[in-house]
Amino acid sequence: MDETRFLCVFCGSSMGVRSIHAEMAARVGSSIAREGLGLVYGGGRVGLMGVVADAALSAGAPVIGVIPEHLSRKEIAHAGLTELHVVEDLHQRKAMMAKRAFGFLTLAGGIGTFEEFFEILSWAALGLHAKPMGVLDTEGIYGPLKALIAHSVTEGFTRQSYADLITYRNDPESLVAELARQRPEPLKLRWS
Ligand code: AMP
Repeated sequence: MDETRFLCVFCGSSMGVRSIHAEMAARVGSSIAREGLGLVYGGGRVGLMGVVADAALSAGAPVIGVIPEHLSRKEIAHAGLTELHVVEDLHQRKAMMAKRAFGFLTLAGGIGTFEEFFEILSWAALGLHAKPMGVLDTEGIYGPLKALIAHSVTEGFTRQSYADLITYRNDPESLVAELARQRPEPLKLRWS
């Protein structure tokens, strides 16, 4: 049997004020199971993190959590995961999540989610990985993110080819299916 492929989900440790985001997180979790994938994520039980993990688990997907020791109380490490790794710090968390994942999906979240998204995008831009990256743009929540990246292209600080690496969708099922299907070409590093 083929080895399970794990999709990494970056998302808020809060719920946000609108319940649509929890609904979307649950649909991402169940889509992961429907596609025969596993979930790798930050390992917490709070906010959208907990919602996506619970939905994936209850739909039968294996779930790997990676949580830094110092956050395991604040984000309340999820006790029901298939695997829970308690690591030293955020750097180890991100490195382990990136290593275990075939691709990355960003759900609604705050500055921690932005940091994770931009790190993985910048690693792709540097040719350090060639894994698919998707953003669930629920009701335009990531319009400002798209606009920031587009503005940076216009200003000559970001290549259009980097911006093009991101797949935006507003439907969780089609985004998960699309990321599972994609096999991006690695970017060649160019400094000029
Ligand atoms: P947030 O979107 O701010 O709710 O954070 C989402 C996740 O990102 C949480 O698990 C945070 O622990 C994590 N996080 C917050 N700040 C950082 C950071 N600087 N680097 C990596 N992860 C972070």
